[in-house]
Amino acid sequence: MLTDYHLHLRPDEDDTPPERFFTADNVERYLRAAGDAGIAELGVAEHIHRFTQALELWRHPFWEEQARDDLDAYCRFVRGTELRLGIECDFIPGAEDRTASLLESRDFDYVVGSVHFLGEAAVDHQGWDVWEGRGDPDEVWRRYFETLAECARSGLFDILAHPDLVKVWGGARPLPQRDLRFYYEPAVEAIADSGIAVEVSTAGLRKPVGELYPAPAFAQMCVEAEAAFALSSDAHRPEEVGFEYSRAVEFLAELGVEEICVFERRRRRLERLGSDI
Ligand SMILES: [Zn+2]
Ligand SMILES: [Zn+2]
Repeated sequence: MLTDYHLHLRPDEDDTPPERFFTADNVERYLRAAGDAGIAELGVAEHIHRFTQALELWRHPFWEEQARDDLDAYCRFVRGTELRLGIECDFIPGAEDRTASLLESRDFDYVVGSVHFLGEAAVDHQGWDVWEGRGDPDEVWRRYFETLAECARSGLFDILAHPDLVKVWGGARPLPQRDLRFYYEPAVEAIADSGIAVEVSTAGLRKPVGELYPAPAFAQMCVEAEAAFALSSDAHRPEEVGFEYSRAVEFLAELGVEEICVFERRRRRLERLGSDI
């Protein structure tokens, strides 16, 4: 089986109202693209910060600006389609209880947990760039993976999104000097302890870094820690569904991974990895 669970039904740009993108026609486009790519399980994981309810968790200025839609209307819409219902939710340190009640009061099939922000600044957002001004790579990478570890350990999420997102800019931002496995270590330990599924995402191939999340060394450590994997494209448009999946499947096969996670109402099972066509 192939899955694509971390999908967005609309681009991140500002003018993307739900009435234009949360439509049967748009879902049909995604389903058709999935069918063509041999992807049996498709689910949507819209960004939490697009919903007004996100402001119960955090009041970052970017979120204040973005939080316009109603989370329950989104859930109702997705439940009326063939898509699995997910959400991409940031791990907000200190807001664990509020995050738990927001997530538990809705019937998601899975929750994708993300770390985009370190404090007020983001690792992947030019408007709130963590690298601006100071940006000591050793400190940024250490903090990123420590926060990722907390995210995994929180128990709030089923899938750990784009697990080395901090590398997104590739050579356009400074890289730490030491062996990167040093930074991965606390995150891998938390992955092993928590049992959270590790996302293999082809989104990195569309970004300046030009490689899959996670990096081979990180993925190898996850395999040694007996982690389970989930597969996603992080598509924001139908033509990105299953983007470069042949590379992700080959990557997992080389690591000796033969099964991927499938989710339903936040219960997980493993299915044999591979295309059905
Ligand atoms: Zn993300
Ligand atoms: Zn995403």
